[in-house]
Amino acid sequence: MVELSQDIQYVKGVGPSRVEALHRLGIYTLEDIITYFPREYEDRSHLKKIVELSFGESAAFRGTVVSRMVETKIRPKMAVYKLLVRDETGSILITWFNQPYLKNVFKPGEDYIFFGKVNGTFGKLEMQSPTFDPVGQTKNTGKIIPLYPLTQGITQNVLRTIIENAVKLTNGELADPLPSTLRAKYGLCEINEAVQKIHFPSKLNDFEKARFRIAFEELLTLQLGLLLLKKKGNDSDNGISFTRDNGIQEMIDSLPYQLTGAQARVLKDIEKDMESCKSMNRLVQGDVGSGKTVVAMLAMYKAVKNGYQAAMMAPTAILAKQHYENAKKMYEPFGIRCGLFTSELTKKQKETLLVQLKNKEIDIAIGTHALIEDNIEFANLGLVITDEQHRFGVRQRGILSSKGENVDTLVMTATPIPRTLAIILYGDLDISIIDELPPGRQKIDTYAVGKNMEERVNEFIRKELQKGRQAYIVCPLVEDSENMDLKSVMKRFEYYQEVFQEFNVGFLHGKMKPKDKDAIMTGFKDHKLDVIISTTVIEVGVDVPNATMMVIENAERFGLSQLHQLRGRVGRGKEKSYCILKYESNSKVVKERMDIMQATNDGFVISEKDLELRGPGEFFGTRQHGIPEFKVANLFTDMNILKEAQEAANEILERDINLVSEENQGIKRKVDQLFAERLEL
Ligand code: ADP
Ligand code: MG
Repeated sequence: MVELSQDIQYVKGVGPSRVEALHRLGIYTLEDIITYFPREYEDRSHLKKIVELSFGESAAFRGTVVSRMVETKIRPKMAVYKLLVRDETGSILITWFNQPYLKNVFKPGEDYIFFGKVNGTFGKLEMQSPTFDPVGQTKNTGKIIPLYPLTQGITQNVLRTIIENAVKLTNGELADPLPSTLRAKYGLCEINEAVQKIHFPSKLNDFEKARFRIAFEELLTLQLGLLLLKKKGNDSDNGISFTRDNGIQEMIDSLPYQLTGAQARVLKDIEKDMESCKSMNRLVQGDVGSGKTVVAMLAMYKAVKNGYQAAMMAPTAILAKQHYENAKKMYEPFGIRCGLFTSELTKKQKETLLVQLKNKEIDIAIGTHALIEDNIEFANLGLVITDEQHRFGVRQRGILSSKGENVDTLVMTATPIPRTLAIILYGDLDISIIDELPPGRQKIDTYAVGKNMEERVNEFIRKELQKGRQAYIVCPLVEDSENMDLKSVMKRFEYYQEVFQEFNVGFLHGKMKPKDKDAIMTGFKDHKLDVIISTTVIEVGVDVPNATMMVIENAERFGLSQLHQLRGRVGRGKEKSYCILKYESNSKVVKERMDIMQATNDGFVISEKDLELRGPGEFFGTRQHGIPEFKVANLFTDMNILKEAQEAANEILERDINLVSEENQGIKRKVDQLFAERLEL
């Protein structure tokens, strides 16, 4: 048996300095290196005739050396070496720089295989510094070469050799996690073959078959894990059965508006789950502004009326605070007590809250990640809600839930992903969608403008401010440089303070002291401030209905879904709202993105376009959804594999619901690995 967990340093060709480079690539063990898959391939196996070579392509050809190599000194320390090579269809000039040893390599009349990029001048073919082999050898040519993602301190050739050695070390003896019956049914190749062929394919469709098999395994593992999670929730009849009639209507009646049809429907789904003896695991999806919060608040009311505590976790302190203020207003008339938990509490405040929570003097805990800290204890937690779930990992949701016994969980997200995909991604959750906005909402008019429009935009903002409205102006986050962000926000703040002298202008960014952030948000909410210049800290959830202007600077730097989230900060009241996207770019893609934002306010349409334009890699990052990252599989482009894997997962569980049979031990180990953190919770 192969010891997959053995340290990478025992693989031939790996010395101390390369160990470091490999660690940078996330490679620590033999298993890591053999599953470090190529990013792409270069086909050096297919030989072209010289006449078939075209400018700009990378290609391999076989040629005969025509004459001795010519050396030309072009500068004191710079020499060019030229070699003329031909076949029966034509000739090509090959050049190298500063490689004198090559002079003695090539002899007229000998045949070589060359691989490189074809270029040339005046219609004459040329190739610079190709790799080559004498005919009959295949060290650098004559095959399909895998290309791996690299890091400093390691080259393609070195990494390729190490991987070759690692694969040799496994000796074709990897145990296959997939049972042979399953492989046969879905046409999957065996694991050793797959590993060999994905790294060193001998034909082009070799690696496609290998890739299919490996992607299938990854997606099957995901599906099995999700189904098991879901089953775990559904099977246990020891969830809390909240009772039906407990006055939730009186709270609905106390709202200043009527629930929309969609809100009422989703609330019904939730109540049904809560009343059942199984634990609730429900995802509520709804576009920005669709009114998810109130639905959550009503669910918490039900929990409290049944004698339980409820908790709601939000991704930012600003949002948590806002939920808390809302909650206090809604619940206090009913004698329900709320507590706010953020990392901004003083030690003393926190101590008091901890005691109150434990003694059940707090019914509803609202907060940030602070809620999942070790020392937070509830008396009898019955319902857990995470708001803007796309900001949290599945694990964090799990930790909060584990603070009670068989609690019901509700997850809310505004990231609208296509429903089919959602069902697969959130396989462990039931889904409800709020697909209707509260009445009276007007379309947010969106304009994308170039830099030359700045003054006109400012006049437009001024007119809105004069009508008593408020405005957000958002500056982008420059990656990896929080200090630079600050500078740009502060610079823009100074600029706008000048421009809007007659108004109160404030600024907001993540680096501010919590107290100062609060003061700004409260000031804006109470209309003591007319304009805030902000980073994206206001992106999620912030709700100030009197704000009608959202201006986004350097809009080209944001993803579409993020722009949509930002835009969702306005259009929350009765007044007409506007979103102005200022961009500085001539790129076609940017233009296209701006056009989409102008054309639609529909989050689903936007997320689909986002997916299309940005590619799934970014869209489905782990960070976004809390789902595992795959080595090969791609959740968007491998939809067909995903469906088959889902079918296979169902079949497996039908026969072996707890994955106890001998043949399923391999795949069970994979599931445990992938879901290590999730299943234990
Ligand atoms: P999101 O779904 O983006 O979290 P919120 O819950 O913040 O949306 O709601 C957006 C705004 O709509 C809030 O100001 C809220 O008070 C208001 N609202 C929610 N439901 C209704 C409704 N049925 N009728 C009118 N206004 C509503
Ligand atoms: Mg919200």
